[in-house]
Amino acid sequence: MYKIVSIPGDGIGPEVVAGAVDVINAVAKKHGFEVLIEEHLFGGASYEVHGNMLTDETLEACRNCDAVLLGAVGGPKWESLPHAEKPEAALLKIRKELGLFANLRPAKVYEALVDASTLKSEVVGGTDFMVFRELTGGIYFGQPRGYDENRGWNTMVYERYEVERIARLAFEYARNRGNVKVTSIDKANVLEVSQFWRNVVHEVHKDFPEIELADMYVDNAAMQIVRNPKQFDVIVTSNLFGDILSDISGMITGSLGMLPSASIGSDHALYEPIHGSAPDIAGQNKANPIATIASVAMMFENSFALPEVAKEIYDAIEAALATGIRTADIAKPGEKTASTTEMTAAIVARI
Ligand code: NAD
Repeated sequence: MYKIVSIPGDGIGPEVVAGAVDVINAVAKKHGFEVLIEEHLFGGASYEVHGNMLTDETLEACRNCDAVLLGAVGGPKWESLPHAEKPEAALLKIRKELGLFANLRPAKVYEALVDASTLKSEVVGGTDFMVFRELTGGIYFGQPRGYDENRGWNTMVYERYEVERIARLAFEYARNRGNVKVTSIDKANVLEVSQFWRNVVHEVHKDFPEIELADMYVDNAAMQIVRNPKQFDVIVTSNLFGDILSDISGMITGSLGMLPSASIGSDHALYEPIHGSAPDIAGQNKANPIATIASVAMMFENSFALPEVAKEIYDAIEAALATGIRTADIAKPGEKTASTTEMTAAIVARI
């Protein structure tokens, strides 16, 4: 049995998570496995009931399940709260408390949407790679940090275990994908911390001799991702570089409503779309559920070791899109648009 905690959150969160839960139930029924989905409050929805964005009860439930599915949190109603009480603080807390040190973001171009990219279809068609971004170390956390009137400073520091564990995760993923290539991205020509990163990645690579490892400088990588994205299979990189490169990679594929993510730790994993709570369209049954449904595919691949089920979900998304069904965010001007529930039903039907 798979125990999943679902935390729909705010805005369009509950709408897209409802779609994702329909998909989980559909694959469970098809394959005959048992799934227990337990819903918990988080973000503004929790604040309204408990005066707290993240309760101990929700956190405890997340610690005691096989995977967490998150919608989105936040909205105008809670924007003026003090920083420590805001939804963003609760998001950082849940990631930290669950020890989620790796953020995975796929750049996958659906054939039916190949024209939706801002890049030429012959450049992006067939792109399918995964970015592993280190999430809990590097310059975003390093000490000392600060600024005064005349100087600002941050520290980019990595411990050996931090590099080892994300490199290992990336190589294992590459192995599960059929020994595809891993590209480690750094700035080793300028930064000592990057030289260290590179050394440790190469040491870990010794345990995966069947996998090709390439090193690339981050400036070149930014260029290569838009020039020829098909050359990549798995990218592994530090927090700062990954923050930027995963956004570039995501946008190759078109809309925010299409982009899933996974945040993985040693004992826990959380899956969520990369978009926010979209207050402008919340409650209107207009949101694209595909990012959240694809996050479920990542859950089956990474947390439940069922890549074939993940593929079925991706194939169902692809097959639904091939019929021409489009939510407003991915429709061409003048094209008929489908609702969240219609898009969900189209995908469930193909599972
Ligand atoms: P957003 O991602 O919510 O929305 C940006 C734009 O993209 C909006 O026009 C929205 O309608 C559209 N959009 C987003 N997801 C969509 C979907 N699935 N289908 C169709 N259209 C979609 O970003 P924002 O407007 O900057 O933030 C809104 C709120 O969400 C803020 O309170 C912010 O703090 C919060 N937020 C939360 C998360 C999270 O929970 N992880 C991430 C980002 C922003």
